[in-house]
Amino acid sequence: MGTQQTSEQLFQRANAVVPGGVNSPVRAFGAVGGTPPFFVKGEGPYLFDTEGRRYVDLVCSWGPLILGHAAPSVVEALHGAVDAGTSYGAPTPGEVELAELIAERTPAEKVRLVNSGTEATMSAIRLARGFTGRGKVVKFAGNYHGHVDALLASAGSGLATFALPDSPGVTGASAADTLVLPYNDLEAVEQAFAEHGDDIACVIAEACPANMGVVPPRAGFNARLKEIAHQHGALLVLDEVLTGFRVSASGWYGLENVAPDLMTFGKVMGGGLPAAAFGGRADVMDHLAPGGSVYQAGTLSGNPLATAAGLATLRGATPEVYEHIDRVSAQVGSEVSKALSAEGVAHRVQTGGSLFTVFFTDHEVVDFDTARTTDTAAFAAFFGAMLEQGVYLPAAAFEAWFFSAAHDEAAIEQVVSALPSAARAAAEVQGR
Ligand SMILES: *Cc1c(COP(=O)(O)O)cnc(C)c1O
Repeated sequence: MGTQQTSEQLFQRANAVVPGGVNSPVRAFGAVGGTPPFFVKGEGPYLFDTEGRRYVDLVCSWGPLILGHAAPSVVEALHGAVDAGTSYGAPTPGEVELAELIAERTPAEKVRLVNSGTEATMSAIRLARGFTGRGKVVKFAGNYHGHVDALLASAGSGLATFALPDSPGVTGASAADTLVLPYNDLEAVEQAFAEHGDDIACVIAEACPANMGVVPPRAGFNARLKEIAHQHGALLVLDEVLTGFRVSASGWYGLENVAPDLMTFGKVMGGGLPAAAFGGRADVMDHLAPGGSVYQAGTLSGNPLATAAGLATLRGATPEVYEHIDRVSAQVGSEVSKALSAEGVAHRVQTGGSLFTVFFTDHEVVDFDTARTTDTAAFAAFFGAMLEQGVYLPAAAFEAWFFSAAHDEAAIEQVVSALPSAARAAAEVQGR
């Protein structure tokens, strides 16, 4: 190993060999400006960059690290697993335990493990199509389900941030079967089903959208989606890749209790390793190969390291952990609001369980159009001032902030004390 390089030097090197210098677009800081810090270590609530700077991390790997960085129980489980080899491409006890744990906590009767949230939603859609023998899929603007071709229409966060209405490379044919509707709009759903009901395989929605910022479903929205879908012989797929095992031990289902036909998981259930899953009604899941005819497979699916990290994480996420996260999230949300109000900055803090987003807008945010009224320049100024004070926020206006069991009083205090000057920075931009 050579001497440690600065983030600036590493970003230059990265740009020469990696498109945009990053392996996932939002990491590039395109929406907030500046060079992204390159990290070498995580510990509890903190991240450390190559230059030795320490940050309170409110990204938590975009959700997975509900126990914090390098949680001792997860590290220990991984040490134990790695000594027994990294992959067998064959059945293991760990994958059975993880599937059982997911089935215990959610309405999913059967579960198939995959490697990423994208794979989970892609596979769930294929299964819904195979099960119903139909082609069309209903999705909602601003809902993100990974970078699945058919679902990359009006897909929130990265795309909202970079203002790509759609991605080149997604063919007309794969988008043509996708109906994109405004979120929280049941009339639009009724109308779509009135027109295309016989051709719709499924409706897919984030159980509580958090990829256009947090925009919770209106009371009864998810339940009514299920009714409408079933009236027309279609399935409801609720995407809990982000909310699953994060907003409660049973995810969004634990807060709202609408059991979909299929659901998708990721992030927390992998404990920081690549693991995800889809599951649901046994009669639907049994259509998957090898028992059924809908093909789905994966060389590393149910990987023993990933299942070890996932099991340790889900077992460690006790009721006390969720209570703690609920409490610190509510505290920080209200402190952010106080600081912004003190500077007269237009904003709304919108919550969905322990997830929240600060929208820099006066508008009530109920869908993608209203989410996009957020003042992204004000957010960028706020973000920059927080970063300077050692608080690492999601680098885009359309994201949730994430907390963990490891965010103790000292870490929260550092966040809270950084807020007044960040609010001032946002006010200066808004006043211009
Ligand atoms: C993150 C996310 C995905 C995609 O998961 P990846 O593991 O990044 O492929 C899908 N759906 C939702 C709701 C997500 O938040």
